[in-house]
Amino acid sequence: MKTKLQHHLENELDREFLNKNIFFNKNISKLTWFGVGGLAEVLFIPQSSKDLIKVLKLINTNTTINVIGLGSNILIRDGGLNGITIRLSKNFNFINENDESIVSGAAVPDKVFSKYCYEKSITDCEFLYGIPGTIGGAIAMNAGCYGSEISDVVYSFKCIDFEGNETIIKNSEQTFSYRKNNFLKNHIVTEVEIKKNHGDKDQIKEKMNDINARRLDSQPQKVRTGGSTFKNPTSQVTDKKTWELIKPYLNEVVCPDGVSMSKKHANFIINTQTKSSNIIEDFGERIIEKVLEKTGVQLEWEIQIKGQR
Ligand SMILES: Cc1cc2nc3c(=O)[nH]c(=O)nc-3n(C[C@H](O)[C@H](O)[C@H](O)COP(=O)(O)OP(=O)(O)OC[C@H]3O[C@@H](n4cnc5c(N)ncnc54)[C@H](O)[C@@H]3O)c2cc1C
Repeated sequence: MKTKLQHHLENELDREFLNKNIFFNKNISKLTWFGVGGLAEVLFIPQSSKDLIKVLKLINTNTTINVIGLGSNILIRDGGLNGITIRLSKNFNFINENDESIVSGAAVPDKVFSKYCYEKSITDCEFLYGIPGTIGGAIAMNAGCYGSEISDVVYSFKCIDFEGNETIIKNSEQTFSYRKNNFLKNHIVTEVEIKKNHGDKDQIKEKMNDINARRLDSQPQKVRTGGSTFKNPTSQVTDKKTWELIKPYLNEVVCPDGVSMSKKHANFIINTQTKSSNIIEDFGERIIEKVLEKTGVQLEWEIQIKGQR
């Protein structure tokens, strides 16, 4: 049986638009790195900002809206996502250049963007080479590694709010903090303008290789994970990294079948064979409890958990 939202969209949109862009009761587990999670009531893959605005203006303001990129930092619960889930189409996967900046569509994978910069001898985006998300996801999460984050290289980003209004946010508005963008609550990032700093091509390559080598050395490869599960605490709380807080007590946390903490990195939860995101979430909650009990530090999820249990 169709939901009210599904009926509404069927009534308001023509068949061609629906066939191309809208999917009902779609299993989106395959769109996430963890590979688990329930159905999306509506999955919307807009072909353009115009399409996106059209649908946003059609729906009731209290409809739940979720945005996903490459799903590398998301855990979707088993009960799935109510409302509309938006994933930008490949038409948002473009890179344009002008004299002072590079404009990237939000669906461009970080790795692709970083390689583009290397080809053009543009520096400071080497760190993106190892991050497995999109440029849009990087803006939402202020993604970064090894001392750099996307906020260091951004001039501005364009986004559309859930009511269909387009805005450009400048970096000077200081919306970024650690693994967070404080402005983006009800917005979809569509485009990002990035600083164009020229550098030496060989040095850029060396930096990218170095980042790659560090990752291979310290992180599990080719596994179902969401990357760092919890944020690192601030230096006011402790000098220790999250993995250092977790590692000594890991044996004291009951590890369910099909889920484990990486042996290489004690802040990477790995889905070895579970089909249930709830099991992964519960395991994470038990780690939070254990670390709090043993160290007094309250860990905070970095992974974005979405949907109904
Ligand atoms: C193996 C591995 C290694 C990782 N290493 C790092 C690392 O070194 N540093 C780091 O920072 N992260 C790392 N991550 C986490 C992840 O890759 C980043 O957070 C990435 O930026 C998420 O991008 P995504 O497109 O996959 O977003 P998703 O995981 O799909 O979504 C993440 C969040 O961003 C929001 N979002 C996504 N796209 C948009 C958009 N267009 N507009 C508005 N909101 C949006 C979503 O709603 C969600 O809240 C790693 C993950 C994995 C699996």
